[in-house]
Amino acid sequence: MTRKIGSRYTAHQILGRGSAGTVWLGEGPEGPVAIKLLREDLASDQELVGRFVQERTALLSLDHARVVGVHDLVVDGNDLALVMDLVRGTDLRTRLDRERRMAPEAAVAIVADVADGLAAAHAAGIVHRDVKPENVLLDMQGPLGPGGAHPALLTDFGVAKLIDSPRRTRATKIIGTPDYLAPEIIEGLPPRAAVDIYALATVLYELLAGFTPFGGGHPGAVLRRHVTETVVPLPGIPEELWQLLVQCLAKAPASRLRASELAARLRELLPLVAGMPPLDVDEPDTEPSQAEEAYEDSAPEPREPSPRRGAVPLVPGSAPADSNRDTHTSMRVPGPDELAGGARGTARAPRAAGAARPGSAKHRASARRRRITLGVAGVVLAAAAGVGVYAASSSDAPPSAPDTSSPVSP
Ligand code: ADP
Ligand code: MG
Repeated sequence: MTRKIGSRYTAHQILGRGSAGTVWLGEGPEGPVAIKLLREDLASDQELVGRFVQERTALLSLDHARVVGVHDLVVDGNDLALVMDLVRGTDLRTRLDRERRMAPEAAVAIVADVADGLAAAHAAGIVHRDVKPENVLLDMQGPLGPGGAHPALLTDFGVAKLIDSPRRTRATKIIGTPDYLAPEIIEGLPPRAAVDIYALATVLYELLAGFTPFGGGHPGAVLRRHVTETVVPLPGIPEELWQLLVQCLAKAPASRLRASELAARLRELLPLVAGMPPLDVDEPDTEPSQAEEAYEDSAPEPREPSPRRGAVPLVPGSAPADSNRDTHTSMRVPGPDELAGGARGTARAPRAAGAARPGSAKHRASARRRRITLGVAGVVLAAAAGVGVYAASSSDAPPSAPDTSSPVSP
């Protein structure tokens, strides 16, 4: 199974399938490469191709040991491809699915690597905007670092920006992945470097705890928690590491550390966490509280029984969805009243009896299934390289697509 990509590359074998296309093991003039061949519907989008070419210089110039380098962008007939460094290993989500929680030393080492990559990007004026475990690749052929961690590299750089065209996202739309979205984006501010720090701190929390600080339930509920809730402490975590997490999860972007500072502080903390076993953390809220059940009872009964009927919808009447780890391309910026949310708004999203808490083995299995289903069924629309997609408001969204953006008020 071999195919030509442009005049310089040959794709030999499929390494993996993502939401935006297929990643091939390929060969170029300088040796083996990974080639991400975008889905046809994306490759045939003229506006996206235009931006692809525009972004070429920025993407190609980002050259750092902790960033999966993009060597080339190929536009050839119906093919649109990103030629990247080949990383022989796995992504951090796969590792987390397997281990559930990581030993603090390995988690800190991995996140420090990613922070180094971000520092280089930010220095070049590039904001990633979709930092999450799926976009961190672990190089299994690299030397083992602290805690036995393989070197980590950040990938899918500049991709969120690529798809953030005026037509796809107006000022009222958000691109990103709900669990990792910084509060200022939710409030409609333009994404600056600090959004990557917030997302990376969320990843660190998730590696330590086995769940994200504000995840669970309807994406709208997740967004609201980012804005209104404070992060729940993790028992057993050294105080210095906790303070670092809290600072980088600050609601105010200016309060967060910069990427280079974060990398340096994390490395300073490595001796403190050396040899520590993974944290023994209870997943909060395995059962809905009485108050939450009361709310559930008072909530209008959905017409169809849904496995997540307890999810708190931000937008009344909208279908609960649970794709908080998939990149969304058209979430609506919630209004201030929706974000305030009152007592209901600040409640952690109740889950239906038997529904899995994010991070639980059951949830991870179903999240994995969902990712696969999304990829295979092609329910996703209007996305671009490297991103899972969530089509919400566009009129061409399939009827099955969950709608988080139906208007609350005219
Ligand atoms: P998407 O972001 O479009 O959903 P990914 O970037 O996650 O897709 O790619 C899908 C899979 O392809 C990954 O899980 C990984 O196994 C493989 N892959 C992606 N990029 C590389 C790379 N640079 N080197 C090696 N394998 C890669
Ligand atoms: Mg990706």
